[in-house]
Amino acid sequence: MSQQPPVKGKLVDQETRCEHYHKQEDIIAIKFYCCGTYYPCYQCHQECTEHDIERWPQDHFDKKAILCGVCKHELTINEYLQSSYTCPYCQSTFNEGCARHYSIYFED
Ligand SMILES: [Zn+2]
Ligand SMILES: [Zn+2]
Ligand SMILES: [Zn+2]
Repeated sequence: MSQQPPVKGKLVDQETRCEHYHKQEDIIAIKFYCCGTYYPCYQCHQECTEHDIERWPQDHFDKKAILCGVCKHELTINEYLQSSYTCPYCQSTFNEGCARHYSIYFED
């Protein structure tokens, strides 16, 4: 567990839930391309930084940028997008609602 990369923002528990998203399946943190820092959600990023979000370019989708808050494995963006909302390492269920926000994080 101590291998977990640091997650900033308004965390409310050890599985990376935050003040904005804290349902059972809200268990991932996302590393932001602009600052290379993990936050639980874009609202945390906006409230804790002074800069605008830069989206991940498509040719960086092989980079590890998604943290499963349950098993602490880092997924590449491609792994995450192909995961069908299930962690490939611990089978925890991710929030399908995150798909509505992909365009905030990833180039399309
Ligand atoms: Zn940033
Ligand atoms: Zn948040
Ligand atoms: Zn996991």
